[in-house]
Amino acid sequence: MKYSTITKDSFEQHAVKPNIQDYHKMYREFSWDKISNDLSWFDKEHINIAHVAIDAHLETDRRNKKALVWESKKGKVEEYTFLELSRLSNKFANVLVKELGVQKGDRVFFFLERVPEIFIAILGTLKAGAVIGPLFSAFGPDAVKDRLADSEAKVLITSPALKKKIIEILPELPALQKVMLVNREKAPVDPDDLLYEKMMSNASDSFDTIKTHKEDYAIIHYTSGTTGKPKGAVHVHGAVVGHYTTAKYVLDLHADDIYWCTADPGWVTGTSYGMFGPWSNGVTQVVYEGGFSAKYWYGFLQRMKVTVWYTAPTAIRMLMKSGDELPNEYCFDTLRYMCSVGEPLNPEAVVWGEKIFGKAFHDNWWQTETGAIMIANYPILDVNPGSMGKPFPGIEPTILDDDYNELPPGKEGNLALKPGWPSMFRTYWKNDAIYQSRFKNGWYITGDKAKRDENGYFWFMSRADDVINTAGHLVGPFEVESVLIEHPAVGEAGVIGKPDPIVMEVVKAFVSLKDGYEQSEELKHDIQKFVKKRLSSAASPREIEFLPTLPKTRSGKIMRRLLKAKELGLPLGDTSTIDDD
Ligand code: ATP
Ligand code: MG
Repeated sequence: MKYSTITKDSFEQHAVKPNIQDYHKMYREFSWDKISNDLSWFDKEHINIAHVAIDAHLETDRRNKKALVWESKKGKVEEYTFLELSRLSNKFANVLVKELGVQKGDRVFFFLERVPEIFIAILGTLKAGAVIGPLFSAFGPDAVKDRLADSEAKVLITSPALKKKIIEILPELPALQKVMLVNREKAPVDPDDLLYEKMMSNASDSFDTIKTHKEDYAIIHYTSGTTGKPKGAVHVHGAVVGHYTTAKYVLDLHADDIYWCTADPGWVTGTSYGMFGPWSNGVTQVVYEGGFSAKYWYGFLQRMKVTVWYTAPTAIRMLMKSGDELPNEYCFDTLRYMCSVGEPLNPEAVVWGEKIFGKAFHDNWWQTETGAIMIANYPILDVNPGSMGKPFPGIEPTILDDDYNELPPGKEGNLALKPGWPSMFRTYWKNDAIYQSRFKNGWYITGDKAKRDENGYFWFMSRADDVINTAGHLVGPFEVESVLIEHPAVGEAGVIGKPDPIVMEVVKAFVSLKDGYEQSEELKHDIQKFVKKRLSSAASPREIEFLPTLPKTRSGKIMRRLLKAKELGLPLGDTSTIDDD
């Protein structure tokens, strides 16, 4: 076998010392109800995410601990303790309730850069009992309009620059009553603009958090739009039970950790694990305002003394693409644990991580709809490169055939989950029919294809819609892409099935080359030969097309449906989440 299986022994040599006793105890005694009771507030029916994340620490020695260390694009650092975040979010809750008339259940949306105010305002909104809706700051006007219209948001928090970008859509949103500007840049504003800074300075810093029931709606997250029009997955306050527990046992967060989650708050990872999971565990997290830059990221890991890092395959592939020399200039001594989510993590990336950082990336699987990590390579498990790991306690995944009957280990089918965990979505906003259609025979159908092996590890195969049928062989694009990026010239790859009159579909690969490689017919043949040798001739791309970059969603996922639509000259469908920087 090409990849070294990273054993528990080699893993422990890397100074990752999860307390195995703790894990065994956790497995033995696991109960969602018990954790929910521990995190609940004045009785076991009531819970508020912001209370669990922030205010619950105020009576402990974490009161004056740093909760957020933020670095601006220009290198300016700001620090906030749990107490400061509590007071500031109280102020914001007062602004919403007293000044803007926000009531429990109203939707408050955030179209903001990754600045401290987005964290403060989200926490304040949750304290006020309103429903948060975070949006990617890079969205264009149509993407923002679709989501604000669908959710009937009452308040929008944005910045002068971003408001300018969406100015023409604002009159088309009848439910939107107030737009508030966070003016860090001190840009010129209109006299009647509502200003965050001004309203906050007049607000009281004490607020009685609204007594939200654990089933009260708290969050609407629109899905990434990888497979179609984004859907508004609705989560409840009780979801924090899932965020807390998985952050503790999958991300292995401990009191002294310095944690960095690279996801944008516009995606569910950016809230579940960029706010609620780490803070409910009382952990300090660091945030970088800017986007991806290999140099900057390596420097940030070193400078901030990051110990636990949660990132995504697309970022790891970009780091790989930037070469193995650059990381030699930095020291990652403090880094003890690394996780990845969002797309399949190519085995090559796991091996690369071990080479560069001396430890493996731990892949885990979940969705906007699941609200928290469902399947993971835990710290105490042997990492199987290419596998997404084993189920979290209290989570029951299975593999179903197309009639929704369970399949034995080794068989590929539809990945499904037994409903009922706390962070599970409660509906798609105003789209209950699609929500209902995701349940069959008592299972939640995830829309992904996977298999389970004899040892209980789950292996992602593909999105249900992406499976390629070529001359009767079923080929998962991920498998082909993973081999493609092992080729020395290939930086990124996206694979689709292209209709063919004889074999039904042929495999077509879109490839972006690493710096220093030139496209040529010889290179194409070489890549084809490379895949054929490692997989099969059926899986080897019949066609290869070179592209400078691959189309991706804002959350960094390769959009195969767009590659396919372009290839077939079909309408592109919803492109609101495409990353077109
Ligand atoms: P949409 O539902 O709008 O098409 P999306 O499914 O990409 O978009 P998300 O909820 O952000 O929206 O992504 C969840 C999906 O991402 C999963 O269903 C799966 O296809 C993929 N995914 C996430 N983590 C992993 C992983 N570790 N391995 C493989 N695939 C993953
Ligand atoms: Mg999805």
